[in-house]
Amino acid sequence: MTAPLIDPFQRAISYLRVSVTDRCDFRCVYCMSENMTFLPKKELLTLEELDRLSSTFIRMGVEKLRITGGEPLVRRDIMTYFQAMSRHLESGALKELTLTTNGSQLERFADDLFAAGVRRVNISLDTIDETKFAEITRWGRLPQVLRGIDAAQKAGLRVKINAVALKGFNEGELFTLTEWCAERDMDLTWIEVMPMGDIGNESRLTQYWSLKDLQSELAKQYTVTELSESTGGPARYVRLEETGQKIGFITPLTHNFCESCNRVRVTCTGELFMCLGQEDNADLRAPLRANAESEKPLEDAIRQAISHKPKGHDFDYSRQALGGQMTRHMSHTGG
Ligand code: SAM
Ligand code: SF4
Repeated sequence: MTAPLIDPFQRAISYLRVSVTDRCDFRCVYCMSENMTFLPKKELLTLEELDRLSSTFIRMGVEKLRITGGEPLVRRDIMTYFQAMSRHLESGALKELTLTTNGSQLERFADDLFAAGVRRVNISLDTIDETKFAEITRWGRLPQVLRGIDAAQKAGLRVKINAVALKGFNEGELFTLTEWCAERDMDLTWIEVMPMGDIGNESRLTQYWSLKDLQSELAKQYTVTELSESTGGPARYVRLEETGQKIGFITPLTHNFCESCNRVRVTCTGELFMCLGQEDNADLRAPLRANAESEKPLEDAIRQAISHKPKGHDFDYSRQALGGQMTRHMSHTGG
């Protein structure tokens, strides 16, 4: 292990999110346009490069690794990468290996993921209405995802559902979705829709459903207890006393979590984003490819980049003008 990664604000970087592909078998309306142009394969980090990059971060103190995308499970041979990462779980250097997925491929991969040491998985699901599911994901089919969720639970994976809160879309499912998750012993996290990418900005502003309002609605039916645990990220949690369920709220547009931020993101092309809300990034692919024998150039590039991790980000809906709007898609940085 080399010296740990500490940013200029004394925050230790212990959590890495890696996007392993920009491709996806769905086309969620808030995430992608219908006709996406994907990156040429040669631009992507190879599985071996992903291994070198992740292992270097782990040597530098990363203890939690989340794999995302695009849809991580559509990347060819991605299980090879998960299997390779399990050696860091076995050594104790890595405390958690996990992923965020749309669930479409879990029927196929749940057992392999468990065997590689994955114990928890976040599955994105905004609605349990089949017609609405097809509408929001454009290409997704609900029964396939439900079979994926069943397979994950059967394999022994703990499932958390992530739902994007969309006014006029899944507002009416607040209680049905909550109860559906409770019956299956799954926690549920709501994500505030973010002004990412360049599609449908106008409608997205009107789709904005404040999680404060959502929580007040929940409190009409349940006893809601605030939980104090902090993840170092934009999520806060409550417990519903009647169901025992944990409900999360991810509000990336508020600034209140930046001071405890412990995470960075790497895209599938090896760009390191120090902050989800800032364009500033560092290229790690060139140092990776510069020397296949030594990780020194990569380590130097990571250290240099972390020394520029900004204090906070700059989204702001309140200005009503999409201040701090990002031009990249969520599928690029993996959320
Ligand atoms: N394909 C996987 C999935 O859907 O879980 C992983 C990648 S996806 C980009 C990660 C998360 O970002 C998903 O939960 C998705 O709902 C969320 N997401 C995508 N676009 C978003 C947006 N504009 N605002 C808020 N969340 C968004
Ligand atoms: Fe694909 Fe996930 Fe984006 Fe939906 S949110 S289009 S499943 S990457």
